[in-house]
Amino acid sequence: MIAAPLTELSAALAEKRISSVELVTLYLERIEKLNPLLNAFITIDREKALTAAQAADAQRARAKGEVVSPLLGIPFAHKDIFCAKGWRTTCASRMLANFVAPYDAHVVEKMAAAGVVMVGKTNMDEFAMGSSNETSYFGPVKNPWNLDCVPGGSSGGSAAAVAARLVPAASGTDTGGSIRQPAALCGITGLKPTYGVVSRFGMIAFASSLDQGGPMAQSAADCALLLNAMAGFDARDSTSLDRPAEDYRRELDKPLTGLRIGLPKEYFGAGLDARVSATITEALAEFRRLGADLIDVSLPNAGLSVPAYYVIAPAEASSNLARYDGVRYGHRAREYRDLIEMYEKTRAEGFGAEVKRRILIGTYVLSHGYYDAYYLKAQKVRRLIAADFSAAFACCDLIMGPTTPTPAFRFGEKSADPVAMYLSDIYTIAANLAGLPGMSIPCGFVDGLPVGLQIIGPWFAEARMLNAAHQYQLVTDWHRRIPPLTP
Ligand code: GLN
Repeated sequence: MIAAPLTELSAALAEKRISSVELVTLYLERIEKLNPLLNAFITIDREKALTAAQAADAQRARAKGEVVSPLLGIPFAHKDIFCAKGWRTTCASRMLANFVAPYDAHVVEKMAAAGVVMVGKTNMDEFAMGSSNETSYFGPVKNPWNLDCVPGGSSGGSAAAVAARLVPAASGTDTGGSIRQPAALCGITGLKPTYGVVSRFGMIAFASSLDQGGPMAQSAADCALLLNAMAGFDARDSTSLDRPAEDYRRELDKPLTGLRIGLPKEYFGAGLDARVSATITEALAEFRRLGADLIDVSLPNAGLSVPAYYVIAPAEASSNLARYDGVRYGHRAREYRDLIEMYEKTRAEGFGAEVKRRILIGTYVLSHGYYDAYYLKAQKVRRLIAADFSAAFACCDLIMGPTTPTPAFRFGEKSADPVAMYLSDIYTIAANLAGLPGMSIPCGFVDGLPVGLQIIGPWFAEARMLNAAHQYQLVTDWHRRIPPLTP
């Protein structure tokens, strides 16, 4: 049962082959057994989970066979970046280690309304800054496929938890790749929606013009179901889009005949591991067998994504993180002589090294005299990158390529060299800069480690991307592989 994808668990609940209390109990047992090994969760709350499962079962009984939400009673985990009322919400930082959220994020509210049973909060890089989960104040998450390797980041806890079947699905957030990169490194399916489709209200801010929440699960069909629940207008997020609700499952069963897949030459050049490249080529051949046409395209400015991102994201982060001053909530230094020293000590103690690096870079690029040279220039580059995608989508429906240049790397391998770490997101960042939807699906293994295929679509093409991914998953079983974990 535990190995089954969300869609099958949903059917089992609907047919009363299992109750939510039974299902949640099974997953809690597995979490208790395997989490000490993986460190995928920061908080687990057995009591809250079982109470919610009982409520879900009662709701189903009251419905007397009437149609209920397909997610009613499904165990679920939220990345610890989402505020959840009454739950400790840490963002994996010492700064918020004692913070209990007084309200629910829109995503948490929406998922609860759809009936999911929240079992806990997943580990992540501190304030979602990282690609390996090594920056978490609560210690790194291990990759379930190889415990010596990173799970990716920043949503590494959610990715590892889904891969190891500690939960059937989880939420993630993606500012520069944080849903797709860990999904690739852990062998699961993850989707970053078009910017504005999922509300950022109650999602702790990193870089507000890039941050976007989304689903992480075993399959594309699962992600479609989850996005149906997660997406929607929210007046409390000024960038939330007021559009008619969509059924993201509506195109799942469409054949791929005539689908034009663009392959950007910049995504297959130097820096891409040859074995990853071969795995991606094989996956693309499968799409061709499914009836798609492969077309060469170019994103001439894609090479500027990482430098532009590492100006814009830290600039926004330095502003967003100014709120952590020890006055209103979160960590406060124990001893200080005056207000200024209280701020200084609080922030020196509360933030880790990577967060401090970002704040320093951000304040630097925004400072008088450098704003034009760095920040404004980066914003112009951002526009050029978006224009490259628009040009490419004039001759293809979807873009495909690798999610990451290499499979999961070892702990410590990149942590001493920030630039090497930043390059893990070389293929994912451009979609955030352009606000485009992107996803990663499992497409093979290299040395026993999963490889992810990235799919990028035009704005609001989520249903089409899920269709392509689902058709691929009907003829392959990479997404069904389970890491051989012995507790
Ligand atoms: N790895 C990138 C960074 O460190 C992206 C993180 C994210 O998407 N939250 O900023």
